[in-house]
Amino acid sequence: MTKTVTVTGAAGAIGYAILFRIASGQLLGPDEKIKLKLLEIEPALKAAEGTAMELHDCAFPLLDSIDITADANEAFDGSNVAMLIGARPRQKGMERADLLEANGAIFGPQGQAINAGAADDVRVLVVGNPANTNALIAMNNAPDVPRERFTAMTRLDENRAVSMLAQKLGVGVEDIQDLVVWGNHSPSMFPDLFNAKVRGERAVNQVDMDWYENEYMPAVGKRGAAIIEARGASSAASAANAAIDHMRDWALGADGLRSMAVPSSGQYGVEEGLVSSFPVRTQGGSYEVVEGLEVGDFAQSKLDITVNELKEERDAVKGLGLL
Ligand code: NDP
Repeated sequence: MTKTVTVTGAAGAIGYAILFRIASGQLLGPDEKIKLKLLEIEPALKAAEGTAMELHDCAFPLLDSIDITADANEAFDGSNVAMLIGARPRQKGMERADLLEANGAIFGPQGQAINAGAADDVRVLVVGNPANTNALIAMNNAPDVPRERFTAMTRLDENRAVSMLAQKLGVGVEDIQDLVVWGNHSPSMFPDLFNAKVRGERAVNQVDMDWYENEYMPAVGKRGAAIIEARGASSAASAANAAIDHMRDWALGADGLRSMAVPSSGQYGVEEGLVSSFPVRTQGGSYEVVEGLEVGDFAQSKLDITVNELKEERDAVKGLGLL
């Protein structure tokens, strides 16, 4: 079988880190041939061609073809998997409304192009920030695509949360299960140690609440900034890795609870239609939000903060006429 995988922002840092992994079979497994479609803005097309040359030079047996284009309709035509990575970064002096508007101008037309030409089974992952709200915009511009096919990435927050907890407790990452991050992909997100388990025992019972609230949560939330500070550049390989994890688990299934930002149908009191991170279970190419988990007063107060931020972003893009 051959699958068409569209990657936007293909010439960017995350694009460079993800394309080789997709083409080598780490996204859809060893039996799926890949047609890559790379979307870039005009000035970055030449750089995307350079990346394509390197992809050819890897002689990946699973790589069927590479198309490079600045036309969203062409890029999403027949797309089975769409990784929406390219976005407008916040620049100095830019107000939040400017950022949302600039990204609306990217994700609205991309949603329309997905609606017009993607394959019936298209699955969409938005990585470009503000990811949840960009996914909301794309979803609202694709009325013929089932809403649940639009998702945004909180898997990097989950992976960071797992790694930091493992280091704190001196255990392996494989000893930690069901550590889910809720809400927005922003420093407000909530890593849930109440439902997470370490070697089968409740994670929250193995840490101090003061550390949880005042060290761990801010450290997970501000990890991106710490990486910029240390590296002089944004995280790219770890973001690409998380995007692969998200899409692979969705397409091929996985054990345990995972974090995915998906359109709410009102679960856990999150307003319907908001694209919020929830605990999900993936199987056979689909996912379901897992209901009935414990959400106590502490967790609820944190969930309220991050979901309110999503509402504010939704209201702002609505006010700009982007929904
Ligand atoms: P990156 O490849 O580093 O980042 C791309 C997007 O991913 C940004 O919005 C970034 O957000 C976001 N992101 C989400 N999570 C993370 C994370 N944990 N760490 C880092 N980034 C994260 O950006 P580049 O500037 O290198 O590349 C962007 C490319 O996109 C450029 O080549 C540009 O030409 C292209 N582009 C393409 C468009 C299109 O195809 N139509 C439209 C716009 C841009 P944040 O900025 O908050 O770090």
